Amino acid sequence: MKSRYDVLVIGGGPAGALAAQTAVDKGLSACIVEKRPAIGSPVRCAEGIGKEALTEFIDPDPCWISAEMTGATIVAPDGFVMQLSSKMAGGKVGYVLDRKIFDRELVWRAADAGADVAVKSRAAAPIMENGVVKGAKIDHAGKMTSVRAEVVIAADGVESKFAKWCGIDTTVPVREIMSGVQYVMTGIDIDPESTVFYLGNEVAPEGYLWIFPKGPKSANVGIGISGKKSGEGHRAKDYLDKFVKKTFPKGKTIEYIPGGVSVCRPLECTVADGLMLTGDAARVVDPLTGGGIYNAMFTGKLAAQTAADCIGKGDVSKKALMAYDKAWRTSKMGKTIDRNYHIKEYLIKQPDEKLNEIIHSVSKIDMTEFTTLNLVKEIIRVNPKLVLELGALA
Ligand code: FAD
Repeated sequence: MKSRYDVLVIGGGPAGALAAQTAVDKGLSACIVEKRPAIGSPVRCAEGIGKEALTEFIDPDPCWISAEMTGATIVAPDGFVMQLSSKMAGGKVGYVLDRKIFDRELVWRAADAGADVAVKSRAAAPIMENGVVKGAKIDHAGKMTSVRAEVVIAADGVESKFAKWCGIDTTVPVREIMSGVQYVMTGIDIDPESTVFYLGNEVAPEGYLWIFPKGPKSANVGIGISGKKSGEGHRAKDYLDKFVKKTFPKGKTIEYIPGGVSVCRPLECTVADGLMLTGDAARVVDPLTGGGIYNAMFTGKLAAQTAADCIGKGDVSKKALMAYDKAWRTSKMGKTIDRNYHIKEYLIKQPDEKLNEIIHSVSKIDMTEFTTLNLVKEIIRVNPKLVLELGALA
C-alpha cells in the first residue's frame, strides 16, 4: 500500500472490487482496503442473483456458481404454492453463487488489472481538509498509516461508517433494517433448481423466509424480518428455528450467518467533496427483495467511471461528482429501487388474508414473462381498487 492513489476504495465487496477494477481500467491508480483478513469471508448473503444481471459484469464460471435456478416458488401464508418457471421469466432466472470465491475472484481481477489490495486494513478515519475528503487513516494490521487520494470511494457495506465520519447522515430507521439470519444446511429435501420464498406474518413478519439451493441436498435457508418486529423470543432466529424444526428436522446446519439488510430508500445524496458512496453504503439495496449484489457492482463501476472523468478534469468537488448520483438515480436500477420501495411499503401493510388473495389471484394469470412490473400490473388488474395505491407504478 502506497501513501497516495488517485482512488482509494474502502471495502473489498462487489462494490469495491468493481470500483477498483474500473478505476485502473481507466488508467488511474487505485487501492482497495479491506478490514477483514480475507476477501469474501465470512459470507453475509443468500447469494442469489439473476442471470442477466450477473452477466452484465462477468461471464458465469462454475468455480463460483453453486447452483443454477430454473424456477421460483412462492408459498402464501395459507400454504398455497405458486410456481414460477423459467418460461415465465423469459427463459432466464438465476444463480446461487459461492460468494467466498466470487468476491475473491472480483478482487483478484482488480488486482490483476493493477489495483493494490490491502487486507486486515481498516479505514479508521477520513483525512479531511477544509471540509474536503482527501484520503483515509488506515489501521493496517495494527499500524496506523495515512493514505491520500483524489477521490475516496466508500464501499464499506451495510455497516458503513466512513460516510458518517465525513458528515453524511447514513442512519437507517429500525423498521427499515431487515434483521436477517441464515443457515447453510445440508441433508435436506429440496428442489435443487428452484428458490423458495415463504410469506406471512406467522413465518416472517414484514419480510420473508427463503431457501436458496446450493446443491442437490443443501441450501441457504434464511429469514429477514423487520427490525421493529424483532424482540425477545421473537427474533429472526426464533422464526427460522421454528421453520427448520418443522420443515427439515433431519437437516444439518454447517454455517450460521447473521446479518442486516437495509430496505430503506437510498441516501438522499451519495457524494460529497472528494467522496463517493456505493453499494450497501449508499443504501441502494432493492427494498423489495433485499438483493444488493448487482446494485453494488453497478454503482461501484459507475462511481469509478465518474471519478475518472472528474479527476481528468481536475474537479472532484461534490458538484462535479453529482454526475454519478444523477446517473444511478435515473438508471434502470435507480428506477427499480424507487418502484420496489413503494411495492414493499404496500405489501408489508397487508394482513395475511390479503397476501393470500394477491398470491391466489396472481397464480391464475398466464404470464409469459414474470417481472416485478408485470406482477404490479396483474395485482392491479385483479384488484382494481388498488389503482390508487399502486397505479402510478404500473
Ligand atoms: P459488502 O459486500 O458488505 O462489502 C463491504 C466490505 O467493506 C466488507 O468486506 C467489509 O468488511 C468492508 N469494510 C467495512 N468497513 C470497513 C472499513 N472501515 N475499512 C475497510 N473495510 C471495511 N443480495 C443479493 O443480491 N442476493 C441475495 O441473495 C442476498 N441475500 C442476502 C442475505 C443476507 C442475510 C444479507 C445480510 C444480505 C443479502 N444480500 C443479498 C445483500 C448483499 O449481500 C449486499 O447487498 C452486497 O454484499 C453489497 O455489496 P457491497 O460491496 O456494497 O458491500
